[in-house]
Amino acid sequence: MSGIIYSTKMPVPENMNAWVLKNPEELVQISKPVPKPGKAEVLVRIDAIAICATDLEVMKYGTPALIEGGTPFNKNFTPGHEYMGTIAALGPGVDEFEIGERVTVEIHAGCGQCKRCRSGMYTSCHNYGLNYGSVNKGHRANGFTSQGGFCQYAVNNINTIIRVPRNMSDEVATLVVTAGTSMYGLTELGGLVAGESVVVIGPGPIGLLAVAVAKSLGASPVILIGTRKNRLKIGQELGADYILNAKEVDIEKKVREITGKGADYIIDCAGSEETVNQSVHMANRGGKVCLAAFPKNPVNFDIGYLAVNNIYLYGIRGEGKSATHRAMAFMAENRFDPGLVHTHTFDMNELPEAIRYARDRVDDAIKVVVTNSY
Ligand SMILES: [Zn+2]
Ligand SMILES: [Zn+2]
Repeated sequence: MSGIIYSTKMPVPENMNAWVLKNPEELVQISKPVPKPGKAEVLVRIDAIAICATDLEVMKYGTPALIEGGTPFNKNFTPGHEYMGTIAALGPGVDEFEIGERVTVEIHAGCGQCKRCRSGMYTSCHNYGLNYGSVNKGHRANGFTSQGGFCQYAVNNINTIIRVPRNMSDEVATLVVTAGTSMYGLTELGGLVAGESVVVIGPGPIGLLAVAVAKSLGASPVILIGTRKNRLKIGQELGADYILNAKEVDIEKKVREITGKGADYIIDCAGSEETVNQSVHMANRGGKVCLAAFPKNPVNFDIGYLAVNNIYLYGIRGEGKSATHRAMAFMAENRFDPGLVHTHTFDMNELPEAIRYARDRVDDAIKVVVTNSY
């Protein structure tokens, strides 16, 4: 394509190393052409990428990835979506960024032409996965419907690019999507949570950073519920006022004791039948529950309690409404240290081993980051 701007200070090779998904849970490293940025796009040289639980899901089940209208297996598809890197080329007409800038990315660009994208809800794009063939809507969600980041270069829409401050490490910069997802949950619940009580269930990466973001927004008290002591301790370091071990205390009773009438906001990052019901039962009248994780199968749910008590239930998808930009603003000001959830680093060539650490939680792994060396 003509009009692409390259620079001699960042030479871009013709081909790159890329991991691609063959059959379920089978990744192989191949050589692929380096992609070319189009209009409103840049080429990012990937320096670091974090492994997410959703990557593990995509590699095992295929969903929520959607490639050429179906599962992502045996389609030369590169998964991975939580990456950061250096801008290596500019698509035609792009003057918003410069080659050599360090950036991190959000996943979803959406299609830009549907009703949801037009209202800023590009993570709920109506044309999800429709970026191929004769009905091509140009949808992009890297690592889900378009090529991801377990490789050396990826193309990103400029609206998914966020500058990384000089003093922030590559590893920490990969965590902006995780913090952005937590931020989006709080945005959807109302945003102004200062002085309001927030309960987070499930101290995985999104739950732990939900504690940090809620605290940074002034929520009080912030209560974290989990079962793994080491993770609860990290939650405390990220600002939780109370940590409750669900194995040791009656958490619904305890939340009522702490808050008086129940919590104003509950973010369920565990997503089991048990926690969905606990979330609703912990809410005060008129309280709000956000499902940041969800049960895979239909569950028994106390919907009567929800209706009678005017409790609101929200589903969130991804890092919507530019929440990553707000998360980065907090991270850049050191309001909290997302590095506390980063536990392990591997080289890109060792990706299968890195995935094993993330999946099996080897050595208490929380966030595992993979880096490229050039
Ligand atoms: Zn993710
Ligand atoms: Zn759309």
